[in-house]
Amino acid sequence: MEESIIIIGSNGQIGTELATALRLKYGEKSVVTSDIRQPNVPSQGPFEIVNVLDKERLQSLFEKYKPTQVYLLAAVLSAVGEQHPKMAWDLNMIGLLNVLDLSVSYKVSKVFWPSSIAVFGPHSPKEETPQYCIMDPNTVYGFSKQAGERWCEYYFNKYGLDVRSIRYPGLISWKTAPGGGTTDYAIHIFHEALRNGTYASFLSAETRLPMLYMEDAIRGTLQLMDAPAEKLTIRSSYNLTGLSFTPEELAEAIKLHIPTFSITYTKNDPRQAIANGWPSSINDEYARKDWNWKPQFNLSTLTEEMINNLKKI
Ligand code: NAD
Repeated sequence: MEESIIIIGSNGQIGTELATALRLKYGEKSVVTSDIRQPNVPSQGPFEIVNVLDKERLQSLFEKYKPTQVYLLAAVLSAVGEQHPKMAWDLNMIGLLNVLDLSVSYKVSKVFWPSSIAVFGPHSPKEETPQYCIMDPNTVYGFSKQAGERWCEYYFNKYGLDVRSIRYPGLISWKTAPGGGTTDYAIHIFHEALRNGTYASFLSAETRLPMLYMEDAIRGTLQLMDAPAEKLTIRSSYNLTGLSFTPEELAEAIKLHIPTFSITYTKNDPRQAIANGWPSSINDEYARKDWNWKPQFNLSTLTEEMINNLKKI
């Protein structure tokens, strides 16, 4: 069957790269990108302006393209969410429910919606955080993702909707700027290292967080979407990780390429409090078992890729 794919929120950090990967796989015209704003660079295929909160407009998109797969990426991220809590809740919840409802009505074959490691909280185990444990997220972003996971599982159980999801850790990429998350430092640091040779980190030297290089994230997402439905034992959201590091360790890895690079640490940034409630490493055994997940990038290869690619632009 020919695929018709819609990505909602396609202009952001993940959408830009996911759109390229899906168009390579399914053909340019089979993938419709959509966002609330125009893309910075012209789209390689059909593009539509859509506000995911405008259900009528969203429905017209489903009616026009009769999607077989939908990827919902529009969301308010962790740090911005703390500045605009109600807006984050509305977008992250109502946007998801609009997409789930229309996907049932239009008999969409598969839906992808990303969750986050922000679903964990201060009482979750910090090391090797398991798939199932206490979850007491204390950010609006975190509990909007947690509620979103419950809704995804509910729509699977109640309406048979094939929703698939990953709890992404911090995603590191060079093509598009990050969208206002707590792990953004791990991208800013590369830009500043190349531009100024120094970086003031808003997270402390020893804050260890789970991360994933974007190429791994996109590969993992496509792998999950290709997996046979009967292999998937989790319909809320899969734990997933690539590696964990601290700002200090990342700075050391950068120094191997830019020996004069130096890092300083700012105090009392609100993002530190968010990071303190998150896991420092993630156990992703279910993803490994159910759909053969295996990351390819480590700290050294990720650093090399970031520096080499950013040097070219
Ligand atoms: P981003 O902020 O870079 O991109 C989101 C896109 O959604 C933007 O292009 C924005 O214009 C668009 N958008 C905003 N409001 C919209 C609306 N009302 N209607 C339509 N589009 C709208 O985010 P991202 O980093 O690409 O993240 C995508 C998803 O992945 C989100 O659900 C996020 O929570 C999740 N996630 C991201 C990370 C990460 O490190 N980037 C980690 C964990 C989870």
